[in-house]
Amino acid sequence: MTLGNLRDLYQQVILERYKKPKHKGVTNPVHRQQRGHNPSCGDTIELTVQLNDTGDRIEDVKFEGEGCAIAMASADLMAEALRGKATDEALEMVQRFQNMMLGKAEFPTEQRKLNVMQGVSQFPVRIKCATLTWQTMKAALEASNAPVAVSNE
Ligand code: ZN
Repeated sequence: MTLGNLRDLYQQVILERYKKPKHKGVTNPVHRQQRGHNPSCGDTIELTVQLNDTGDRIEDVKFEGEGCAIAMASADLMAEALRGKATDEALEMVQRFQNMMLGKAEFPTEQRKLNVMQGVSQFPVRIKCATLTWQTMKAALEASNAPVAVSNE
């Protein structure tokens, strides 16, 4: 597969998620709510999270927002990947995602869909679009209450 074809594949997955997101909306109930904004592109994401009774596992993640295809596709893929994960495991995945965008890590087979976003790292100006949702998730999980808006600068 040539590099050109590989780029097309990344683009195809991103556009499919953008057009038909599977995790758009608001969780019920809402245990965490966090807004994130990427001023360099204008992407805005509002994440809601449903936790289990003890608050250490993610039952559901949904997103609302407006922005480019990369930001929206990244949010949708993240929501899918984090459902059912322990909160500390989710925070490790935030770190791994950031490392992946720097070319230093990849996700294992069961989360390999996330590796699609690695294609974006070829376009440095768009990396913030892909990482916005993960930064916002980190803030959501670390906030005990009082949501604070995230600016991905
Ligand atoms: Zn963007």
